[in-house]
Amino acid sequence: MGFAPKRNVLLLTKIISHDIEGKRVISSITFDDISPTYLPVSKLKGLVDFLNDLGICCTFFVVPIQNYSPCLRSEFAACLRFALSHGHELSLHGYEHIKNEFGYFYPIPLPVIPIPSFEKQKERIASAKKALTQLAGVEPLGFRSPFYLYNNATYEALSVLNFKYDSSKTIFKPTHGIRWRIRWVRNLGPYKVHDIVEIPVSGDYLYNVKNEDIFTSIRRALSDFAWIRSRNGVFVMNIHPHKLSSTSLQRFLHMFVSKILDKTEFVKLMDIDLLKGCDNS
Ligand SMILES: [Zn+2]
Repeated sequence: MGFAPKRNVLLLTKIISHDIEGKRVISSITFDDISPTYLPVSKLKGLVDFLNDLGICCTFFVVPIQNYSPCLRSEFAACLRFALSHGHELSLHGYEHIKNEFGYFYPIPLPVIPIPSFEKQKERIASAKKALTQLAGVEPLGFRSPFYLYNNATYEALSVLNFKYDSSKTIFKPTHGIRWRIRWVRNLGPYKVHDIVEIPVSGDYLYNVKNEDIFTSIRRALSDFAWIRSRNGVFVMNIHPHKLSSTSLQRFLHMFVSKILDKTEFVKLMDIDLLKGCDNS
C-alpha cells in the first residue's frame, strides 16, 4: 500500500510543531485478535463504525490464517475493506495465533516447545502476509506477535519480508497489570532494531478487566499517558475487543479519548513509523 507524500509532509510539520511546544504527543489505539474466531464480524463492524464517529484512525492487527467458511470469509473481507476505506490500518497479528509461533514464555523455554527458528518464522510471516493481502487487498506494513512473544529472528524475518515496523514489545509486563507490573523496555517511543522500527505498547488496559472495572483502567491509562507525555514518548494503547462488551469498550474509549483529545494527535501506527524520528538506541 502506498503513502501520500503530500499528506505526510503536512502531518510531519504539524507534529513537530506540537513537539516543540511540548503540549502534544502522538498517540495510537490498536486492536488485537481481529478474526471471526475471536470477534464476530458484526461486532467488528460496530467497532469500526464507532471509531469513525469518534473521528480517529486506528490499527487493527488481523489473524488471517483461520478455517473460515467461504461465506464468513467474504463477510470478514468486506468488513476489513470497509475499515481500510475509512482510513484505518490493517497489520499482521501472527500466523495461526498460537503461543510459540514467534517466541516462548519468558524466562525459561521448555524443552518440549522448540524456539522458533528464523526460517520457520519467515515461512509463517510470509504465508500470513500473503493471506492478509488476498483477504483485504492490501500488504501489511506492520506486525505484532501473538501474546507479545517474539525473538531476534522475528525482526530478521520481518526485515527480509519488507515490513516497516513491529509492535510486539511492551513497556511493562504484564501489559494489563493494574496492581503490579515491571518496566520492561527503556524506550517510550519508536526505535530501530534490525532495520525494523519497534513501536512499544504502553498498555493493554482492558485485558481481562470486568466490565464494571473500566474506571480503574481509565485511571491507569490516563496516568501512563501523562507520564509518557512528560517524557516526550509515544502512547500506544492496545485493546483486545473480544475481552469485554461492546458497550463497555465504547464507554471506555469515549471517556478516554475525550479526556486527552486536546493534548494528543491520534494516528495509526504506520504514520508513527513514517513521521516520528526514531531513537536508534
Ligand atoms: Zn492476540
